[in-house]
Amino acid sequence: MEQLKKAIGNIPGLTISADVGDNNLTESFLEWTLNIKGMPLVDLIDKLRQVTMGVWYKRRCIGSKFSGHILPAVIQQLNTQIRSLRNIKVSKCGLQTGEVSGSSQDMMPWRHVADLDEHTCSCGEWQLTKKPCLHALAWIITDTNADMESFVHDYYFVEWFRAAYSGIVPPMTDKSQWPRVDPGFKLLAPQLKPRLGKRKYTTKTSEEPCASK
Ligand SMILES: [Zn+2]
Repeated sequence: MEQLKKAIGNIPGLTISADVGDNNLTESFLEWTLNIKGMPLVDLIDKLRQVTMGVWYKRRCIGSKFSGHILPAVIQQLNTQIRSLRNIKVSKCGLQTGEVSGSSQDMMPWRHVADLDEHTCSCGEWQLTKKPCLHALAWIITDTNADMESFVHDYYFVEWFRAAYSGIVPPMTDKSQWPRVDPGFKLLAPQLKPRLGKRKYTTKTSEEPCASK
């Protein structure tokens, strides 16, 4: 990070996003499959189905307890950001647009343009996350009558969270109770193809039990 800073200097409002924490879906999936990876395919899929069934049920229960329009975690995050706002100047040039300026911890001045109508900020965060960035929040709280919820995308609505988990993953019996199917042929293990690359030859002596094979 130090070398990167030397190379690009101090850019106001720069946000660096590593993919370390951004890949929640893949990471959760890998975590689920960690202990079941060695299972035969049908058992593995059945296990994943069970886990998904449990997660959906849990989220459906969580969703039923929410009140209000916006997900509580998002409201909490925005409130924490609002409390952290210090020494930010809002210079309006229109009812809904203007400049928001301040200085970073190392006293480098920065300035952004926020547009509350378009839900945009020149830092790009609002467009990306669909939640007001710090600069937009600094603007929004200048109006004590502002409705914070109207600046957050529907994506964070409790209603959408509930809709996402509204279906159920159907329960199933264990495979000994599944219908038997006659495919009309006998399914054998696949014939293994010889591997590419250098082949190892071993010499077997006639004393070995499998030498004739
Ligand atoms: Zn911003």
